[in-house]
Amino acid sequence: MHEMSLCEGIRGIVEDQARVNGFTAVRVLRVEIGKFAGVEKEALAFCFDVVMRGSPAEGARLEMIDLPGRAMCYDCMVEVEIEERLDPCPKCGGGKLMPVAGDEMRIKDMEVV
Ligand SMILES: [Zn+2]
Repeated sequence: MHEMSLCEGIRGIVEDQARVNGFTAVRVLRVEIGKFAGVEKEALAFCFDVVMRGSPAEGARLEMIDLPGRAMCYDCMVEVEIEERLDPCPKCGGGKLMPVAGDEMRIKDMEVV
């Protein structure tokens, strides 16, 4: 379950930020999750609550923002949005697509006290 290690990563960032920016608590933490990042949202929410205990983000609300998958089509040379990693190009039907976004998960921002 890599959601646990993702949350440990988030905790590390929160603790660093708290030290650098001098806040004591996080109220809301927003993460962007790419469509192909393979993140189970329910598992992420569960791990978040567990992993943040004792950190500035204990009790924080986790908001998850979906990012679409994007790929560059080498047939029509346009960047397109795709639903599935192996989808053909929605514009020209071509199959030479290079994924350019959708694998990422990152903290977008946080509301702190
Ligand atoms: Zn195309």
